[in-house]
Amino acid sequence: MSEAIPQVKPMKIMSGCRTTSQLHVGNFWGAVNNWLKLQNDNECYFGVMDLHGLTTAYKSSHEIKNFNRDIFADLVAWGIDTDKNTVFIQSLVPEHIELFMHFANLTPMGWLERVPTWKDAEEEAKASDTHNLGRFMYPVLQAADIALYNGQKVPVGADQVAHLELTREIIRRFNFLYKGKLPEPQALLTETPLVPGLDGRKMSKSYNNGLLLTEDEKTLKKKVNSMLTDTKRLRREDVGNPADCTVFTFHKLYSTDQDLKWVVDGCTTAGIGCGDCKAKLCANIEEKTKIPREKKKELLNNPKALDSIIDQGTEKARLVARKNLNQIKDWMKL
Ligand code: SF4
Repeated sequence: MSEAIPQVKPMKIMSGCRTTSQLHVGNFWGAVNNWLKLQNDNECYFGVMDLHGLTTAYKSSHEIKNFNRDIFADLVAWGIDTDKNTVFIQSLVPEHIELFMHFANLTPMGWLERVPTWKDAEEEAKASDTHNLGRFMYPVLQAADIALYNGQKVPVGADQVAHLELTREIIRRFNFLYKGKLPEPQALLTETPLVPGLDGRKMSKSYNNGLLLTEDEKTLKKKVNSMLTDTKRLRREDVGNPADCTVFTFHKLYSTDQDLKWVVDGCTTAGIGCGDCKAKLCANIEEKTKIPREKKKELLNNPKALDSIIDQGTEKARLVARKNLNQIKDWMKL
């Protein structure tokens, strides 16, 4: 029997971002921006999920430690409050792996074989040498990540609601088998705008088309200048359609309503050129990222301060994780 989720604040919120590289703009607008909105009114657990990253990046494991630190510095620089919330690096909390193993034993393989993301990604996984057990079982680890903190709500976009169902099924089975009282987490629908890569395709490391959250000024300019524009607008005097333009998608994330109007009016009448439009976007991104970029730089230049924040987060996470895992093992009569 599952415990009913009390509809009162604060809710226990669990969310994470996978360590595969430095934080890119897709991570920010898809996850971190929502964390900022949730962090003051809820009990939040935000993880830098390097064990998940390693399921595909196992060959470049030497990079993960630096990426973890870089992501952590970004989170702090962009305003995640590590005093109010529990922010941690997944592999520093070994309880994740222990609970993962208990969950793995009670999860029928058929449940994992039916996961749509696995079916869709199988060919790509084979081609990239990541058709491995770790990647296959990632939903079980995800269930453990959430259950370890008694997560009640998981912020997700509408397209990810189905993914949470497997977590709920695993937890339901646990509760049934062991008479446990783990809460079945519910989706907390959040805004997750689709952030494309610079070339308009899905942002992906393999396409090398990503934009980091805190690019240096020179690289930012270079990357914005390389962004795909409306392919039908071939000459300066042609009118364009912002809806078919990657640059405009980024304007919607970084520009004011007034600037958006300037783009739409200028583009659809050929009043502005793509160069003007990109220069405006660059300036707007620069404006929004300037302070966090400086803050992040300070943290990375002061490893002791960053280590201390990471250590505090780890300790907080482990306290909760140990207590909850002990309760889980009691239910299992281990
Ligand atoms: S003017 Fe701006 S929105 Fe229009 S096609 Fe050029 S870059 Fe895109």
